[in-house]
Amino acid sequence: MKKVYLDNAATTQIRPEVINEMVKIMSEDYGNPSSTHSFGRSSKSILELSRKTIAKLFNATSQEIIFTSGATEANNWILKSAVTDLKVQRIITSKIEHHAVLHTIEILASTYSIKVDYVKIKPDGTADINHLVELLSDNVPTLVSLMHVNNEIGSILDIEEIGKICKQHQAYFHSDTVQSIGKTTIDLQQIPVDFIVASAHKFHGPKGVGFAFIRKGLLLHPLFYGGEQEKGLRPGTESLHNIVGMTKALEISYDLLEEEKSHILNLKNYTIKQLKDNFEGLKINGNQEKTFYNILNVCMPFSEAKTSMILFNLDMKGIAVSRGSACQSGSLKPSHVLAEILNDEDIKKPSLRISFSHFNSTEDIDALIDVLKGI
Ligand code: PLP
Repeated sequence: MKKVYLDNAATTQIRPEVINEMVKIMSEDYGNPSSTHSFGRSSKSILELSRKTIAKLFNATSQEIIFTSGATEANNWILKSAVTDLKVQRIITSKIEHHAVLHTIEILASTYSIKVDYVKIKPDGTADINHLVELLSDNVPTLVSLMHVNNEIGSILDIEEIGKICKQHQAYFHSDTVQSIGKTTIDLQQIPVDFIVASAHKFHGPKGVGFAFIRKGLLLHPLFYGGEQEKGLRPGTESLHNIVGMTKALEISYDLLEEEKSHILNLKNYTIKQLKDNFEGLKINGNQEKTFYNILNVCMPFSEAKTSMILFNLDMKGIAVSRGSACQSGSLKPSHVLAEILNDEDIKKPSLRISFSHFNSTEDIDALIDVLKGI
């Protein structure tokens, strides 16, 4: 059975070039970057070269890039430090953020009794900017935390515009850029954002590594304590093979960006056409005109009875997509994102998140459609 992977917003296949680079580091460059002998110095220079390479891709400086275990850690660190170090008294966020942001903010709110305001989400899944401006008008020391690309419905936030609004209101701005890094260019000299985060496994790199961008001048304390690695901001021996793998993955992603984007966009359009031709009444969840190019979330015109079986049936035929709505495949919790934008009737129907990469082809889509037709 040919397996079909259409769940690239969850994680991605590592590029072979990245694996080769990582194997080289693991077998040859095993020195601890903190050691002063030649093995250590060699690893340290590889580490700093990686940092420089990444910084350059975003028009940032090396000092602004801190390596972490991934985006969950980076989000936790930034959000907590905004409260404890930058002394914000309020966080403005939205109900459609990733749990790495939402749950962290909930804990911060109960631990430090800060205020949390939620920007309204419009039915198309985008943030209501007028509401944000209204919320910001009351001059409380604030961090705005809004994601760049939503991981479930692919809605896009104009982070340049939000950054400018935050500046005008002297608010800090954090954006969870996990789904956009490596898939669209981000010029940090152009975009007035204070913090962004990345996770390598979302752009064909290894799992368990990512980075935080902390704009120069913002003084944060570490999330936990230990050695002097990452200027003491993120103690713990650096995972050099992962960092190098992430750097390689990012470099290739940006080298091939236009080519791969166009392939993926063609596939997404092909999928929409096939779905619409075969399933009358199918709806796209989120903004019809403008969702991120590798994410498609659809509400299938199937009866409620079929909802629980749809992912199971796809999985039996080797097709991996992600659940988009309530009570599918044994999960009892509805998607907190779809719950914000769908009406009571549509939320009961099966929604699917189909997320693409350059590794996919039209045959993958044909296989998906065939199985869906049999349901
Ligand atoms: N933020 C978003 C938008 C994500 O999609 C994910 C991954 O699921 C994360 C944060 C968490 O990233 P990580 O897997 O690096 O902890």
